[in-house]
Amino acid sequence: MSGREPLLLAIESSCDETGVALVAGGRRILAQAVASQIALHAPAGGIVPELAARAHLRWIVPALRDVLESAGVTIPEVDGIAVTAGPGLAGSLLVGIAFAKTLAWAHQLPLVGVNHLEGHLYAAWLLDRDEPERPAPPFPLVALVASGGHTFLVEMRDHLAYRLLGETVDDAAGEAFDKAGRLLGLGYPGGPAIAVAATGARRRDAVLPRAWLGSSYDFSFSGLKTALRRQVEAELAAGARAGTEAGGRLDPLRVAELAWGFEEAVVDVLATKTLRAADETAARALVLGGGVASNVALRERIAAGAAERGLPVFIPPPDLCTDNGAMIGAAGWQRFVAGERAGSDLGARPAWPLVRPFGTPDTRRPPRRGPAARAYEAALAAERDAAGDVPVSVPGEDAR
Ligand code: ADP
Ligand code: MG
Repeated sequence: MSGREPLLLAIESSCDETGVALVAGGRRILAQAVASQIALHAPAGGIVPELAARAHLRWIVPALRDVLESAGVTIPEVDGIAVTAGPGLAGSLLVGIAFAKTLAWAHQLPLVGVNHLEGHLYAAWLLDRDEPERPAPPFPLVALVASGGHTFLVEMRDHLAYRLLGETVDDAAGEAFDKAGRLLGLGYPGGPAIAVAATGARRRDAVLPRAWLGSSYDFSFSGLKTALRRQVEAELAAGARAGTEAGGRLDPLRVAELAWGFEEAVVDVLATKTLRAADETAARALVLGGGVASNVALRERIAAGAAERGLPVFIPPPDLCTDNGAMIGAAGWQRFVAGERAGSDLGARPAWPLVRPFGTPDTRRPPRRGPAARAYEAALAAERDAAGDVPVSVPGEDAR
């Protein structure tokens, strides 16, 4: 097909969203479908891995059909397939990987395995179907990814090259929101519920602690969560003593004030560290990704700080901050361009880190010869052992 940009079919199933998308030239979303499992996991207050994997199985084919239909594209018109290979829940990852490998095999299409965290970063490159062209984020840049499972800051000097500046030492920011949502009786997921509740706060003076961890770029949110729990318990006990407590629940206005204080504490730390990282690395742009990047208070804080510095900010719209297939198409495109191809031995990598422990950017051509190559292989093997790779084989693929 000449005269058009190469088209990737992208599949994401690492956690609790089944995402399928068609992405042209690594940026333009032709169509996408996300089957969310939020309602499925809400009664448990968190993701139930076995249910998640089954739901991926149930929804992956309908999601693909939906995407092909709305883009008016058939699979033979696709140029390649990108699929999340990790990190994530093993059972969930296996569904997407087996599906992608089967399609690649059946249609003789090249396949590439994508790191989910890299997907969250590359969501900032995406353009919606009818959105006017705009420049891609310039390098060097600083990117914050804050999701339910991860929170980290990286510097990117080029595509697929990441220098880890800092990461959470305990809870991820989204996880902290989810736990706080539960403490405040706001339900699951906590992030959006807390953001909504916070807008109802009349007094905005609740101060909860921030863990700055000195001058490092690391994050810690578990102390904040504990402080909130103690505060809630203390106020409930005081209410019981005074005979004003209402069935072990805080008054909705007080919940709103504490939700505001919690959100403010998380946003303060995330934004302050991200902006300082931009200053200290002389970044030319800021990128945000992950579910927590859909938080309006965080977006506004980052946008204001970036405007003061004259820096452009790239934050995907909320539906591209949370898990989706399109972001895997954007990141997968960069891997395709770098010449990467996955074989039929592509397996799930539940603990796949974005940045290799010894600092070699993940997808730079690995050293081929000599001690450097041996060290690289040894590090890879160690990482695979630690990550507990799960091999996937597609029945009949040996016949290829
Ligand atoms: P993961 O794949 O790690 O579950 P996602 O990128 O799908 O993460 O994001 C989900 C997380 O984002 C949840 O923890 C949720 O509470 C959080 N989140 C979503 N929207 C908001 C918001 N508006 N404010 C804060 N957190 C949010
Ligand atoms: Mg998710």
